[in-house]
Amino acid sequence: RQGKQRILLLENINLDAAEYLKKAGFEVDHVTKAYSEEELVAKLPAYDAVGIRSKTKITAKVIDACPKLLVIGCFCIGTNQVDLLKAAQRGVAVFNSPFSNSRSVAELVIAEIISLSRQLLDRSSEMRAGIWNKLSKGCWEIRGKTLGIVGYGHIGSQLSVLAEAFGMSVIYYDVIPLMPLGSARQVDSLQELLNRADFVTLHVPEIPDTIGMMGAAEFAHMKKGSYFINNARGKVVDLDALASALESGHLAGAAVDVYPKEPGANGPGFNDNLGPFIPRLRQIPNLILTPHIGGSTEEAQRAIGSEVSTALSRYLDVGTTLGAVNFPEVDLRAITTQDERHIRVCHVHKNEPGVLKRVNNILADHNIEKQFSDSKGDIAYLMADISDVGEEEVENIYKQISAASSNILTRLLY
Ligand code: NAD
Repeated sequence: RQGKQRILLLENINLDAAEYLKKAGFEVDHVTKAYSEEELVAKLPAYDAVGIRSKTKITAKVIDACPKLLVIGCFCIGTNQVDLLKAAQRGVAVFNSPFSNSRSVAELVIAEIISLSRQLLDRSSEMRAGIWNKLSKGCWEIRGKTLGIVGYGHIGSQLSVLAEAFGMSVIYYDVIPLMPLGSARQVDSLQELLNRADFVTLHVPEIPDTIGMMGAAEFAHMKKGSYFINNARGKVVDLDALASALESGHLAGAAVDVYPKEPGANGPGFNDNLGPFIPRLRQIPNLILTPHIGGSTEEAQRAIGSEVSTALSRYLDVGTTLGAVNFPEVDLRAITTQDERHIRVCHVHKNEPGVLKRVNNILADHNIEKQFSDSKGDIAYLMADISDVGEEEVENIYKQISAASSNILTRLLY
């Protein structure tokens, strides 16, 4: 690293992340607001890295204005706010933190299962309206009930363990065979899960295969008096079909945290016609509506801060792209040699024939201790550790590797 590299953190990113990066030797500027495109074009060119959340848009224009920029850290789950392809074509790696809030979501589902089976929110609303309504009809313990988890990934599998601790039996459906945790059992089809579960909860990604995966036919397959929970993504569920299944009494309750269209900012007054909050849903009893808060906890924010700042600092310091969303994932074990005449070549290049041969010809006079290369679409990334390199040769190696038309970005770390 030549001199201190500069990192700009926008949108009030967790202060622990800023501290971590300062301790790692970077110069960090911490700003509470999001920057507009004009502000980014004016200020970001001075930085080697930027940390954002969901409100700062890193467009092609911004990337073009920042030739020094090496890496973007999205301190959140989504990366739609970044022009990922443009960033890759310019050799700018992008990292995010997709799984730091898994536990938070799993805990919320447990809360929802109990709240639905005890009609907790309806009783609370009645009390606030001055109505005493002590009843046990239609209220159940969750012990001994069957939880059906659709999508047994990071969230689904954590939830499985928590649910069993409450005495539930767990079945799950996933498109790939997955090792069950505890006594959970994988079932062969979504329909089988819907037929058997007392509670159905979705934990699948939003992909073409899952859009609309829960519609009228699927709700009809669910047991009468069962409950439905969606904390995954809004487009996976047909909300009209859900409303019908609840209104007819086929389902006994539901919890919805995510919607096909969500408001961009907090506050009252979003338009029912544009938004997902179909007025119908508001009238239905034992339906819990939350504003996409599944992963919103202090712990998750801290975990995101720590994961993304570590990824930024590792990429800048040692070139590792594990967890990058727009780059091939490449890592080399740590440098162990005591040889001070040692360099690490980090070469982002167009994915075309002949590049490795050319680079290895340039490096051939030295000892290539280890190297690894991978590609993702049009972009490829090579990391190589070279020993026995004299100081006077470093500049020459850099010039030769970066001279090729296939070169996107070359860094030599030493
Ligand atoms: P993950 O990638 O770890 O797991 C998803 C699982 O779904 C995988 O095992 C995958 O094989 C499975 N799957 C994919 N397509 C499927 C299909 N058609 N049928 C059945 N299974 C299928 O993801 P995760 O971290 O567990 O997150 C799950 C969902 O939760 C995602 O949609 C994510 O966006 C959402 N999420 C929501 C919040 C929130 O605030 N509400 C927070 C975090 C994540």
